[in-house]
Amino acid sequence: MSVHSKCQQPNRRVFMLQAVTVTGAVLVAREASAQPMVSESDAQAASLGYKADAAKVDKAKNPKFAANQNCANCALYQGKPGAASGPCGIFPGKQVAAKGWCTAWAKKA
Ligand code: SF4
Repeated sequence: MSVHSKCQQPNRRVFMLQAVTVTGAVLVAREASAQPMVSESDAQAASLGYKADAAKVDKAKNPKFAANQNCANCALYQGKPGAASGPCGIFPGKQVAAKGWCTAWAKKA
């Protein structure tokens, strides 16, 4: 019995290592896309007048807002072209909506 169980030890160890490696890779992949969305009610977002939908920006309160401005065409947006959301330099660790907007909007160079 002891010989049999000793033979299985290395296989079990290899399997465990493979399982840990695969789990780690999945977690890393998930982390990249699992950043939470910025909430309009977050203190910083609220102070910058962030709206997840630029169409809902209060133009009276934000006279500098132009209808064609949104996160996707902001210099601070780091999302991939065509993605619904992406990281923004103003909100580290969070994602903003591509069609969102805030008062820090800056024209892409
Ligand atoms: S800084 Fe630009 S990308 Fe970030 S929330 Fe404001 S408009 Fe969107």
